[in-house]
Amino acid sequence: MNGAGVSGGSERAGRIPLVDLLVSHAEVAAEVDAGFARVLGSGAFVRGPDVVAFEREFAAFSGTGHCVGVANGTDALELMLRADEMPPGARVVMPANTFVATAEAVVRAGGTPAFADVDDEFLLLDPASAERAVSAPGAWALLPVHLNGQLAPMEALADLAARTGVRIYEDAAQCQGATRNGRGAGAWSRAAGTSFYPGKNLGAYGDAGAVITDDRELAGLVREIADHGSSRKYVHDRFGVNSRLDTLQAVVLRAKLRRLADWNAARRTAAARYDGLLADLAADGLVRLPRTAPGNEHVWHIYAVRVPNRDAVLVDLNASGIGAGVHYPVPVHLQPAFRELGYARGDFPVAERAAQEILTLPLFPQITEEQQARVADALAKALANARKEAP
Ligand SMILES: *Cc1c(COP(=O)(O)O)cnc(C)c1O
Repeated sequence: MNGAGVSGGSERAGRIPLVDLLVSHAEVAAEVDAGFARVLGSGAFVRGPDVVAFEREFAAFSGTGHCVGVANGTDALELMLRADEMPPGARVVMPANTFVATAEAVVRAGGTPAFADVDDEFLLLDPASAERAVSAPGAWALLPVHLNGQLAPMEALADLAARTGVRIYEDAAQCQGATRNGRGAGAWSRAAGTSFYPGKNLGAYGDAGAVITDDRELAGLVREIADHGSSRKYVHDRFGVNSRLDTLQAVVLRAKLRRLADWNAARRTAAARYDGLLADLAADGLVRLPRTAPGNEHVWHIYAVRVPNRDAVLVDLNASGIGAGVHYPVPVHLQPAFRELGYARGDFPVAERAAQEILTLPLFPQITEEQQARVADALAKALANARKEAP
C-alpha cells in the first residue's frame, strides 16, 4: 500500500479512495487525542510506557511471546535477519511478487534475495518453486510473504525448510490478525517482521514496524541492534542502528489495535460483498476473483481481481473516480534496482503474468455497500469499454 496508492483523504466529490484513513481516524480520535496529551505531558517521546504496553498487547494479539517495536517494516525484516547473524551473501528465498522492501531488507542485512514463483490461484510463494531456489548453493533461509492479507502455505514451507536445513522467517507486513489453521504470523517461524505503515491493516500516523517472535534471545538482540547496539546506556556490544518506535505512534497503534479484530471482520464482510457484486462478471470469465486458501482466515489487506487489458481498465476506473490501484505492477526480479542479480523476464511466469492482470479495488473497514456497488458498476463498464478498444 505504499506511496501514491494510499489516499489519506475522505471521499471528496464522489471519489471513492483506495483506502480511507480519515474515517478510521474518526473512530479513534478521542483516544488518540487523550494519549497524545498524556505523552506530550510526560516528555517520554521514544520508547515510553505506551511503547512497552503496545509491545505487550501486540505480542498477545499475535500469539507470540515477544514483540519489539522498530521504526518501520523494512527495518523489522532487516533487524531480525541481522539478529540471527545471517552470513554475508546468504541467499534468502522469497516470492518475486512482493513489495520491494522484502528484497531491500535482505540486501541491507548483507544477504542476497533469491526469487521464486508463486501459485496461480492465491499468488503465494509456491513450495515447488521455493524448493528449486533453496537447492542452489548458498541458500540460508526462506522468507515467505503473507500477501494481501492471507498466510503463505506455511506447513509445506516449514517442512521444506526442515528437510533442507535452512531457516524460515515471515514477512507479515500485510496480515495483522490473519491466521492459518489457527496460528498467526510469527508463530510459524523464527520470527516475523511487520509494518504499521498508515495504509496497512494496523496503521500508525507515520512509519512504524515490529518484529514478533517466540524466541526471547532473538527479541533481545533485535531490541539491542535497534538501539545503537546497546544493551545498557553507553555500552555498545555490537554495531547497531537507530530504529526505535516512538511513543506517539504507539499511542495510535494501541487505540487501533483495540478495534483491529472488528475492522478485519468488516473487511471480510466487504470482500464477500464484492464477491457477490462481481459474481456475474466472474461467471462470464471477464474477471477472476481473489480466493482464500483452505485453512486461512483472510484479513483482506488488498482485494485484487484479475482482468485482461488491466492498464486500460485502471485508467477508466480512475477517470470515473474509483481509486483502484495495482499491487504490484512489476515483480521485484524485474525491477531495475535488482538488475545485478541477473534475473530475466520469463524466470517466474506466474508472477509476471499476475503483475499484468491484477487490479486492486477500494477496500477499507468502513466502505459502504453503496460505494462498493458503484465500484462494481464502474468495473463492469470499464471492462466493456476495454473490450471494445481491444485489437
Ligand atoms: C509495507 C511492506 C513492507 C515494508 O514496510 P515499511 O513499513 O513500509 O518499511 C515490507 N513488506 C511488505 C510485503 C509490505 O507490504
